[in-house]
Amino acid sequence: MNRHPFTASIRTRITLWHLAVLMVTLAIYIFFIQSFLRYQLASELKINLIEEAEEVVTLFLKRGTDSHFVWRGHQESVQQSYWIAASHIDGILIYRNFTQTDFVLPPVPLAAAKEPRSFHTLALPDGNSLLMLQELRQIDGVDLVIRVGRTTNHISQELWHLLMIQGLFFPLILLFAWVGGYFIAGRVLLPLQKIIARIHCITANQLHERLPIDNANDELGHLSFTVNELLEKLERSFSQMRQFTGDASHELRTPLAAMLSVGETVLRAPVSAREYQDTIASMLEEVDKMNHLVGDLLTLARADGDTIHPVFEKLDLGQVVKEETARLEILADDKGQYLTVTIHQSCSVCLDRAIFRQAFANILHNAIHYAPTQTTIAVVVDASPKDCWVEIIDAGPGIAVEHQRRIFDRFYRVDPDRSRNTGGSGLGLSIAQWAIAIHGGKISLTSAVGRGSSFRIVLPISLADTPCPASFSSTMSKG
Ligand code: ADP
Repeated sequence: MNRHPFTASIRTRITLWHLAVLMVTLAIYIFFIQSFLRYQLASELKINLIEEAEEVVTLFLKRGTDSHFVWRGHQESVQQSYWIAASHIDGILIYRNFTQTDFVLPPVPLAAAKEPRSFHTLALPDGNSLLMLQELRQIDGVDLVIRVGRTTNHISQELWHLLMIQGLFFPLILLFAWVGGYFIAGRVLLPLQKIIARIHCITANQLHERLPIDNANDELGHLSFTVNELLEKLERSFSQMRQFTGDASHELRTPLAAMLSVGETVLRAPVSAREYQDTIASMLEEVDKMNHLVGDLLTLARADGDTIHPVFEKLDLGQVVKEETARLEILADDKGQYLTVTIHQSCSVCLDRAIFRQAFANILHNAIHYAPTQTTIAVVVDASPKDCWVEIIDAGPGIAVEHQRRIFDRFYRVDPDRSRNTGGSGLGLSIAQWAIAIHGGKISLTSAVGRGSSFRIVLPISLADTPCPASFSSTMSKG
């Protein structure tokens, strides 16, 4: 694997960042130390120059007989490292202790001439720098210019020595920081390695396992907590998937077993044409059930995969309900039931007609299916300022409270055997719930055993000037 620094391990990256920060900090530190020392040494030099100038004035400059000032000291009486020059204000030189002919001290700057004391940095011909003090002194009423200078070589040298020492320790500090940083990063990331190793061991069959949380307040604790939450969701999804696959296989096996059994029976001995016809009719009935079941399974699979994209249009709920009820009227008639539609107040809603039909037809179909003959199934449409609803009320057996909670679960049936015999797979209400949720609505149930059931589909009203949205945010959990 190509180990580019930015694709290197977190440990290496932390170490490199740590080193980079340390290097910048050290560089800034060295810069400040050097600047401070330079300032300190320059200040000391200035004090020395002032003292030296004082000495020159008090010890060596004396007034001669011709009222001119003369130098009374020896060459050795002044420190050799100092450059000393004394002159009258008009430039007539009294004394200077340096002989370089190629170096002439520049004339006193006009501005500086007004100042009694000023410092100047001059470049010497040999490349060195000279810090020069210039003092205007009046001695016995005569204006004199005293100049005392010294090269700044010793400052540069001291700074250079210090830099050398710092430079010598720099690689050592970096080496120490590298080793220390790498070690610390390793220690910090050790729990992460453990988490990774643990996650590696978790397979689809061990989704019940959880990561240990040593400290819930640190970042690794948060990470473990998040991974645990993810595992919990995965476990739930896997178990729902297993349950769903198991239930679906079971439901498919029942009609297949029935077909197999009737097929084998007629093949065992020759039977009349009429019996063959009955067998094929019975087999087709099973195929029809399977067809319905596969259709329902497909709908739920597509709903889970979010591959159904509804197209909403503004429709009058009362009108849609009337039309859909009319389609199922024949079933109620066949059972000798009375199907009534009452519209107290209709309203405009955003519907994908085909999807809404699945919900409405499943609930109305159940009502017709479970309610006895000679009873009335009432379909009522009404509205509040915000919502519009349709209620399907039957006088069937009702649903006990303990079943009401689970009635919308996939494959859930109150009486599995009875329901299966009559073709029910337990998917109708879960599909209805999904279909209404996709419209931004919900279904509620009111039921009492022996007194019937009432399913209410509530949908948001669509305002006249508001267009239908592309989708309603569905909060329905996949059951
Ligand atoms: P099924 O295909 O079995 O009808 P559903 O999901 O439509 O599946 O309904 C789930 C279960 O709810 C049914 O098996 C039935 O026991 C019960 N149920 C649904 N609607 C009614 C109703 N109107 N009256 C009584 N029980 C009902």
